[in-house]
Amino acid sequence: MTKVIIIGGGVIGLSTSLYLAKAGYDIIILEKYKPGSQASKKNAGLIVPSMYIPYPISIDYIKLLKWIFSPSSPIKIAPTKLGYKTIKSILMSRKYLIENQEWRILRRLGREAINSIKNLMNFIDMDIEASTGKILEVYINEEAFREAEEYAVELKNDGIDTDILSGSELREIEPRLSKHIIGGLRYKIDMSINPVKYIDGLTKLARTYGVKIIERTSAQKIIVKNKYPVVYTEKGERFSGEYVVVAAGPWTSSLLNPLGIDLPVYPAKGYIMELSNFNGNNLTHQLMIEEEKVVVNPFKEFIRIAGIMDLMGFDNKIPYNRLEIIMNCVNKYVPILKKHKIIGIDSGFRPCTPDEIPIIGPLPNHPRLLIAVGHCRFGLTFSALTAKFIYEYIEKHIQIPRILQPTRFKNIFR
Ligand SMILES: Cc1cc2nc3c(=O)[nH]c(=O)nc-3n(C[C@H](O)[C@H](O)[C@H](O)COP(=O)(O)OP(=O)(O)OC[C@H]3O[C@@H](n4cnc5c(N)ncnc54)[C@H](O)[C@@H]3O)c2cc1C
Repeated sequence: MTKVIIIGGGVIGLSTSLYLAKAGYDIIILEKYKPGSQASKKNAGLIVPSMYIPYPISIDYIKLLKWIFSPSSPIKIAPTKLGYKTIKSILMSRKYLIENQEWRILRRLGREAINSIKNLMNFIDMDIEASTGKILEVYINEEAFREAEEYAVELKNDGIDTDILSGSELREIEPRLSKHIIGGLRYKIDMSINPVKYIDGLTKLARTYGVKIIERTSAQKIIVKNKYPVVYTEKGERFSGEYVVVAAGPWTSSLLNPLGIDLPVYPAKGYIMELSNFNGNNLTHQLMIEEEKVVVNPFKEFIRIAGIMDLMGFDNKIPYNRLEIIMNCVNKYVPILKKHKIIGIDSGFRPCTPDEIPIIGPLPNHPRLLIAVGHCRFGLTFSALTAKFIYEYIEKHIQIPRILQPTRFKNIFR
């Protein structure tokens, strides 16, 4: 049996383990804490290929200054913590993304991304609260709504259907929306799941397929010996296999640094707030408040509000003024939620790349050392598709699309 070591038991590592284990591979996952304990459980639960548009496309210098200097902006940048080199790469990738439309491949693969997740979901024997076509993107600002309408036309050209709805049509579907909402979009193919239950389901399923998940074990060093990668843990254990897949989220760069590889992956902190669900006040749809970069997702046991983005390194503080932005935004769009009690607050680090395109595939010169990282705001969305790419590369030697491969970055070797 071909042995594969996966570093990181987030949604990417778990999904990859399942695609490989189902095909008969012998899989070990090394996980620093518990499966999914980082961003993979702390997200909004949306599977939204239709919303995929890399955020650097919308960054110009004015926006950048706003994100640096305005404390109330939904995206916040601390240049000293993010690093000037990263800021420069983000600005440079904007130009590239606009000129070269290769990033669209991911959005065009949207249905495949959803089908790959459904493929895994079918084997999970618990209710993960999956729903399709119930995501409403809602707008109060007229100009932003016009841009959304244009986006719906762009999506149609990519083969993705969305409904454009007026404020009253939206309130008919979701009566608890504020009267100030003037319109929005309904994404028809996109899905929502409870990410906590999904991760628990994937973990259980992986174990059923014989995947060995070694918790509380941190990979510390990777070396490549006669083309075969070997992983050493901080406890000094040694793991080797025919392939190693690094899916360690935003911690991947520091793991690869000793190999002389400078992979541009950095953390982008997001926040989650959970509200109690009391009788009769439940929302029936997921709400995307794009103007404020906040999602409201009503699960069975609680309502999760997730969003905004702080590009300021691994700082896990939860400042009150950032939570206030989320609460004010929600009160503006769904005032009834003011009455719900806050029962939980947390934060998670999205693994981002300067072009917001994930990095998937073998490292140059190390064909057996694969990377599956950098999905930023779309990790859940493209998790099973990533797993499928890795599986097809290992099993059938099918090339991963060029734009996703690590080789798209020049100078990753120091
Ligand atoms: C607030 C918020 C909302 C979001 N909403 C959505 C959404 O609605 N839809 C969507 O598609 N995406 C969403 N995302 C993004 C998504 O959650 C992430 O892209 C995704 O979880 C990344 O998964 P991952 O497996 O790459 O990383 P992680 O979840 O970070 O997993 C990496 C794992 O590797 C482990 N690890 C790290 N270093 C080591 C080591 N040295 N040895 C062993 N293990 C190690 C970590 O403990 C961790 O468990 C959101 C994120 C946030 C924060």
